[in-house]
Amino acid sequence: MLIRLIFLFLLFYLVLLVVRFFQSLGQPAAGNRRQPDSLPKKAMVKDEVCNTYISEDEALKETKNGRVYYFCSEDCRKKFLASGK
Ligand SMILES: [Zn+2]
Repeated sequence: MLIRLIFLFLLFYLVLLVVRFFQSLGQPAAGNRRQPDSLPKKAMVKDEVCNTYISEDEALKETKNGRVYYFCSEDCRKKFLASGK
């Protein structure tokens, strides 16, 4: 009687494995998800001198009168400091 129960349990387990196997076949891309690289993850900041947008990580920073200004290049930073705004 006990052997019969174990046999039924094993049979049920095998069916479950087969079902899972076919489910995984039906969804080949499920475990292969890619995050889109085109979406901007970093915050964009504005260069006040040449009015271009750069990512915060790449931008040069200058704090003036308690405000942080961002620049695309050292030239823009120098121009900003020379203008004395
Ligand atoms: Zn610039």
